[in-house]
Amino acid sequence: MAITLIDLPYPKDALEPHISARTLDFHHGKHHNAYVVNTNNLIKGTELEDLDLETIIRKSAIDPAKAGLFNNAAQVWNHAFYWRCMKPGGGGAPTGAVAKKIDADFGSYAAFVEAFKNAGATQFGSGWAWLILDNGKLKVVKTGNADTPLAHNQKALLTVDVWEHAYYLDYQNRRPDYLTTFIDKLINWDFVNSCL
Ligand code: MN
Repeated sequence: MAITLIDLPYPKDALEPHISARTLDFHHGKHHNAYVVNTNNLIKGTELEDLDLETIIRKSAIDPAKAGLFNNAAQVWNHAFYWRCMKPGGGGAPTGAVAKKIDADFGSYAAFVEAFKNAGATQFGSGWAWLILDNGKLKVVKTGNADTPLAHNQKALLTVDVWEHAYYLDYQNRRPDYLTTFIDKLINWDFVNSCL
């Protein structure tokens, strides 16, 4: 089956003024789309052609000869996940099961925020910061480039893209401001709860 580009779960201007329509136009329409096109080109005519995206990611993650495919396929998945981690009017302290689990595993929401911001700010170069479930415990981790918790048998609950293309048009070099805005104004905790 061909890998497809999912639609954004909101209009392109829905996250303004925090993330502009121009950023989403490039990020979804150009960057995410290119990963989809590249993945389809790389699986065409191979034994991976009819597999689902998650299987393609897991198989290519452990095959050094398929590093190029892994980079593109993982980026397809990471971006599809990232769009759903945001919503207009989101952000701030969570509710529901994830709120209780954050208090239990990090001590407080403030401690989670500090860990998540730190992971995003200290990921050198391109990558992602994540809230994951690992052996029943919440953890904050960062991954470089296309790397993804899927490849490490961890369950992703929340991610923020810290590649420059995610924020440069709106924040230029101010990655920490983008991270603060993501946390305070954009996180879709309903989605995070649905993943838990
Ligand atoms: Mn991106």
